[in-house]
Amino acid sequence: MFMSEDLQQLIDEAEKQIEFKLKEVDKNIDFNQWKVLEVFRKHKVSDYHFNDSTGYGYNDRGREVLDQVYAEVFGAEAAIVRPHFVSGTHTLNTALFGVLRPGDHLLFITGKPYDTLHNVIGKAGDGLGSLQDYGIHYDAVELQSDGTVDWEQVNEKINKNTKVIGIQRSRGYEWRSAFTVKEIKTMSEKVKSIKPELIVFVDNCYGEFTEKTEPTQAGADLIAGSLIKNPGGGIVSTGGYIAGRKEYVELASYRLTAPGIGGEVGAMLGTTRSIYQGLFLAPHFVGQALKGSIFAASMFEKIGFTTHPNWKDRRSDLIQAIQFDHSDQLISFVQSIQKASPVDAHVVPEPWDMPGYDHPVIMGAGTFIQGGSLELSADGPIRQPYIAYMQGGLTYSHCKYAVINAVRDMLYSVKT
Ligand SMILES: *Cc1c(COP(=O)(O)O)cnc(C)c1O
Repeated sequence: MFMSEDLQQLIDEAEKQIEFKLKEVDKNIDFNQWKVLEVFRKHKVSDYHFNDSTGYGYNDRGREVLDQVYAEVFGAEAAIVRPHFVSGTHTLNTALFGVLRPGDHLLFITGKPYDTLHNVIGKAGDGLGSLQDYGIHYDAVELQSDGTVDWEQVNEKINKNTKVIGIQRSRGYEWRSAFTVKEIKTMSEKVKSIKPELIVFVDNCYGEFTEKTEPTQAGADLIAGSLIKNPGGGIVSTGGYIAGRKEYVELASYRLTAPGIGGEVGAMLGTTRSIYQGLFLAPHFVGQALKGSIFAASMFEKIGFTTHPNWKDRRSDLIQAIQFDHSDQLISFVQSIQKASPVDAHVVPEPWDMPGYDHPVIMGAGTFIQGGSLELSADGPIRQPYIAYMQGGLTYSHCKYAVINAVRDMLYSVKT
């Protein structure tokens, strides 16, 4: 890679600056790696657990132990981990439909949830079988301008029908901080002091293993996430997990399959070994991605851009937002990430009109798993403020390569 002296100096400065942050990430990797390892040992995970099952998949011991391993790693009573979840959205949908009934009220307290959940929530009478179509009521309390929960509004909106409180841990595509597990603990305590029987549900996507504990160890009753993000360790090809209190996980399992069947059946379609191995690898790869984000934040701050989180902020998700001054810079950034990918590096992404978005969106991803976002990817809507969201990276070295190229492209080729 061609590198000017200026650029090399910038890299050296950034690496020196972030050295102690990377050490913190290493400590977090050790903690989570050892935690996962000890759970594997305790449950005597064995070669025969990787055997495949067919048909109904009765008595699939590998699947049963996998659920127990996940539950214990997440400090939950139970878990269901399956390739049959087609995406994070499907997993979250299954968990919500599992516990909500017509007439119940779902209240998101961290603002509107992630875009793909808008159709899950739907509208009364939409005819699509969305939550609201089934007569489940929904409301969201917007975050305050400082990114904190508006407790006055939450207090006002919790009513006798409120059953589930929704919390999104990750920033998603918002210019806000991810909620830390400690903050989620405070939220759970507060809502339960208002109404003790509430079910606290956390969208845990992008959060797993970024900290030492998970929301299920901090008052959350039910969490869900995607296996092509953090807990899949970059190698799981599809699936999702739900973890939490036993009764709620069971209700969710009835939605995934059928009442009375739940998690007792389901052939694993040859995925079991990779799901175990992915979980084993996840703490390490999440750490690599975190290091990559910290390096990116430091480098882009050095050349004058605002980042969120900044290089030294606390992190509780994988997303690194960078705010650019011009659309050309945002486009150049995403194209550089694509160019630095191991797959489809020759493809040049362009902004395009995506269904459901008011502005053209540009997406860069050259991943082994389609849409796998523990792998390095970047995207952003072409509108002011010009924010790129970068996530993942299976090796710190790859992240560095991509960021260095992106900075170089921006400094030396983008006309502004
Ligand atoms: C990715 C994500 C989802 C949805 O997952 P898909 O796999 O894209 O369906 C939901 N919530 C958050 C916070 C996410 O990051």
